[in-house]
Amino acid sequence: MSNMEQDRWSRVKGRLRSSVGEDVYSSWFARMDLESVQDESVHLSVPTRFLKSWIQAHYAERVLTCWQAEMPEVHRVDVTVRSAMRVAAPAKETPAPIAPRPEGRDGRASSELRATAIAPVSATHEALGGSPLDPRLTFGSFVTGRSNTLAHAAARQVAEGRRGDSVMFNPLYIHAGVGLGKTHLLQAVTWAGNSGTERKVLYLTAEKFMYGFVAALKTQTALAFKEALRGIDVLVIDDLQFLQGKTTQAEFCHTLNALIDAGRQVVIAADRPPSDLESLDERVRSRLAGGLVVEMGSLGEELRLGILKSRVAAARAHHASFEVPAPVLDYLARTITHNGRDLEGAINRLLAHSKLNATPVTLEMAEREVRDLVRPMEPKRIKIEDIQRVVARQYNVSRSDLLSSRRTANVVRPRQVAMYLAKTLTLRSLPEIGRRFGGRDHTTVLHAVRTIEALVGKDVTLQDEVESLKRQLAE
Ligand code: ADP
Ligand code: MG
Repeated sequence: MSNMEQDRWSRVKGRLRSSVGEDVYSSWFARMDLESVQDESVHLSVPTRFLKSWIQAHYAERVLTCWQAEMPEVHRVDVTVRSAMRVAAPAKETPAPIAPRPEGRDGRASSELRATAIAPVSATHEALGGSPLDPRLTFGSFVTGRSNTLAHAAARQVAEGRRGDSVMFNPLYIHAGVGLGKTHLLQAVTWAGNSGTERKVLYLTAEKFMYGFVAALKTQTALAFKEALRGIDVLVIDDLQFLQGKTTQAEFCHTLNALIDAGRQVVIAADRPPSDLESLDERVRSRLAGGLVVEMGSLGEELRLGILKSRVAAARAHHASFEVPAPVLDYLARTITHNGRDLEGAINRLLAHSKLNATPVTLEMAEREVRDLVRPMEPKRIKIEDIQRVVARQYNVSRSDLLSSRRTANVVRPRQVAMYLAKTLTLRSLPEIGRRFGGRDHTTVLHAVRTIEALVGKDVTLQDEVESLKRQLAE
């Protein structure tokens, strides 16, 4: 890497640090490295999958903005997991020991450890107290529409249960893309469940569950941690897709079984269905799928309008003069199709703008303020099973042919096309795709992707077939 590139990278990190604050920075970005900059894209790497998914889910935009401040031509930031073998960072890959220690306090823990495992001792206590709750995320402010009626009804049912009631569906598993209301619904269950009834509802992010548990092991209070978890009536776990690590998963499995067998309710949210939680053990996945699995779809226009109105109403509680005329609300609901977070962001901006400049909200101002939130329609989330089904149908082979080890030409080509589509249309990694195609190696997948990529450029028939498959999958 050139000196110029090094300097630029330092400046980007500096921007990131001041934008997210020292704590967040050292937790998530301290071990991020620059791999390369090419034309419009920047390639960064981190040491673990967890860091990667966390950064992608929560800070992707922020990282891009910091790059653009230094290099306006950058339009894309890729984050990958760097291999454990890299010479540059051998020590960093050593996993933190989780053997019990007689003394939990280790003043000399390396900054490395502190960055990922955060304050070990207090974390135990905090984990028992649950993750922080946002007082605005209640059933009162949750707007229902076609895409979330079932999830909402199930969540209400859970929240209104009494101690000793028989549990109707367990676990309740809600999945949806980013910003579609999972956290809102889960926190609503927690607020409602904890007020008025004698029940104890504990809300934990998967991250908190992980750190809480790892920290508890270190301080030899694992037993207490387990007991406390088992002593609650409803366990709510958010963002389950982030649950990583064999020990943690085994513990999660025990906790899940113990709670369900004791007739306690478990509520879970994730960004994908149980069958797609590739890093989880098969037994856990089937246990998760054994309750009620509900998907929340994208927000329809009416629902978006409802959410905007509810946000304005909430803002007016503190800023009585804040008014958003109906045409502006209609405009926002029509154009901000992405997710609930952008809707919230839009209202916040209008509020800030009208407060700072002491001007009323107009359509023109709204158009200017939210321009960057107006994005093309969020593409449908495509699943590997759908790809396999559609490809099998088009080429007149069976799905099990695709997964089998048969190597006849009439199966090999469709299989390669399916792997290629899985790589280009989903966010799954090569090894994950290999697993989903009958346990193949990631190099096989890579080979298939490259083969089809090369062929599509030359072979018009194949090109048409691939286009047609993409259309079918987008429907
Ligand atoms: P997720 O956890 O699925 O990523 P969140 O629950 O954090 O999404 O929702 C993102 C934002 O959109 C929050 O401000 C939330 O209050 C809002 N939101 C999403 N769905 C709804 C809804 N149905 N009613 C009201 N607000 C919603
Ligand atoms: Mg969430």
